[in-house]
Amino acid sequence: MSVEPRSVCSPCRGTGMLTSNKGGAPHAVSCPWCDGTGRFQPGRDAQAAAGTDAAGTAAAGAHGDDQPSA
Ligand SMILES: [Zn+2]
Repeated sequence: MSVEPRSVCSPCRGTGMLTSNKGGAPHAVSCPWCDGTGRFQPGRDAQAAAGTDAAGTAAAGAHGDDQPSA
């Protein structure tokens, strides 16, 4: 008879805090998945909470055919 706390946030294990290595030195940050509550919040966008990483640059390589003139 084991109680499984499925409502506990797994990334921070319900502590509400995470260790981030961003910036070089590890430091405790508020868990973006549960907003520091330690409880799993279904549907929560952790990426938006942590800051959007806009890395959607499409390299448009216009390649022109060079035909050798006779
Ligand atoms: Zn969490």
